[in-house]
Amino acid sequence: MRQPTIEDADENEPDHSDVMPWPLDSDEEALLEDVYASVKQEDLRTSLSFILALQNASLDDVGTGLSPDAIERLHDPPQQWLSLNNDRALCLAIRLYLELNHSDEDYVKACAAHIEYDGVELPSLHQIKKIVAELSGVEEMMHDMCMNTCVGFTGPFAGLQHCPECGEARYDQETLA
Ligand SMILES: [Zn+2]
Repeated sequence: MRQPTIEDADENEPDHSDVMPWPLDSDEEALLEDVYASVKQEDLRTSLSFILALQNASLDDVGTGLSPDAIERLHDPPQQWLSLNNDRALCLAIRLYLELNHSDEDYVKACAAHIEYDGVELPSLHQIKKIVAELSGVEEMMHDMCMNTCVGFTGPFAGLQHCPECGEARYDQETLA
């Protein structure tokens, strides 16, 4: 059975001109017309759930993806100047980590090259991530995503075991077994 759309509420061709942001180019207008024509009540409920979750978001929420250390740092940020103590190897490591494309894999290779050719032992990938997170106060947050990239399992989707769009299981069933 077809899901009801907003247009079902109006027998005539809907006129959205009063709610259209202005100005729009023709591509944007076509995209917005498409959104208005196909949006479902369920989509609006989902959007509202995300809006409410964001309005009430707190660092103390379960499932923020932040480590206890990161939350502690956000509550009580460092007040002193950060220093690398003129540690040239550490400066090199941070520069490599931040500047290399696809940095994880490249960083490991660069570290191996430095040990082999100049004997400089740089921090491991795990260590440099931790150091950069401590220096910057920014740490990675990992959230599961549908294998078909439909949605991220966050907010109202955080507790789901299957994708609400395509039904794909959240976790690889073979790996899980
Ligand atoms: Zn999906």
